[in-house]
Amino acid sequence: MTLTGGCLCGAVRFETDEQPQWIEHCHCIQCRKASGAAFLSGLMYRAEEIRWSGEPKSYESSPGIRRTFCGICGGSLAFRQDAAPEKDCLLLGAFDDPSKIEIHDNVNHIFAERELAWLHVDDGFPRVEGMPDGLFRID
Ligand SMILES: [Zn+2]
Ligand SMILES: [Zn+2]
Repeated sequence: MTLTGGCLCGAVRFETDEQPQWIEHCHCIQCRKASGAAFLSGLMYRAEEIRWSGEPKSYESSPGIRRTFCGICGGSLAFRQDAAPEKDCLLLGAFDDPSKIEIHDNVNHIFAERELAWLHVDDGFPRVEGMPDGLFRID
């Protein structure tokens, strides 16, 4: 099954034939501000598994960390690390139909110490402080 997505205006699109290796719900302040939501959900892929059309812009939100978005509509698209160009983390909200994403035991909440106290996501997945090294390794 091909999963498709893109920004709000459609100038930047992506597709992949794969399901993500990892899903991270990140509660850090930067992800909150970048997404405009209570937390940001990122889906970890190998970069080669994604086909892009259009040119996203990027913003270096921390040294070596780039957040990509559409330069026209501002829609958030991906999260990238200069140190790991083999990975690309697509944002859940950019998918056309996130209900097609298969959830296994591959989900974590990271920076859970910043999870909003009034937010109740009772999904049973692990909560971890910060982002532990190696947590989102890809095979
Ligand atoms: Zn756009
Ligand atoms: Zn974050």
